[in-house]
Amino acid sequence: MTYPVNETFLSWQGEGVHLGRKAFFIRLQGCPVRCAWCDAASTWHPAHVPRDVRKASAADLAAEAAASRPEFVVLTGGEPCVHDLAALVQALAAQGLPAHLETCGAFPLPAGLAWVTVSPKWAKPPVSEILRAANELKVIVEDPESIGKWEAALGGWTCPVVWLHPEWSRRADPAVLRAITDAVKARGAPFRAGWQVHKPYSADGLDPRSRPPAPLGGDPAKGF
Ligand code: SF4
Repeated sequence: MTYPVNETFLSWQGEGVHLGRKAFFIRLQGCPVRCAWCDAASTWHPAHVPRDVRKASAADLAAEAAASRPEFVVLTGGEPCVHDLAALVQALAAQGLPAHLETCGAFPLPAGLAWVTVSPKWAKPPVSEILRAANELKVIVEDPESIGKWEAALGGWTCPVVWLHPEWSRRADPAVLRAITDAVKARGAPFRAGWQVHKPYSADGLDPRSRPPAPLGGDPAKGF
């Protein structure tokens, strides 16, 4: 079997508990969720899907990752779990590479993952067993009410680490940033204030295998 690959690149993890660590990224094509502010719209938006999406085997992707000698490999998308990732996780393990996953939590997980980041999305909310398997939760704060709405929708916070990330087009919105700060100051754990640190660094784009970012949600008016 082969996987449709949007891009691969060597960079460092720009978010979450593993922030700043050397990582190889495999971004797979395809996502049915279609968030209005998606920062990987070239994986699904008809106006931005690349013409040259390659198909690669698990063994070839694992060998490519291993050549960069990362600390771990991040499987992302798109929504990587719309694909059967078992062969890819096994091929990475055969190369001695831990597999980290970024998912919305609505699709089945493969066995053998070293780390699971769940970022819940309203259009396709996470299922409870995947929430229980998450090592960290990343909540996208679109407006000051987002944190409370997700708390109600998820029935509370069961994950030991809950990142509160400003939605990227609102990253300088004082009301959004204040809501995150207030939540962390009021409650402490499991909340942590988050940010996509790799973006101001332009870290991912330094690898020529990466693609230029598409507009958020595929909408040029939102920029990136
Ligand atoms: S943000 Fe994630 S879940 Fe939403 S459309 Fe983009 S890839 Fe899919």
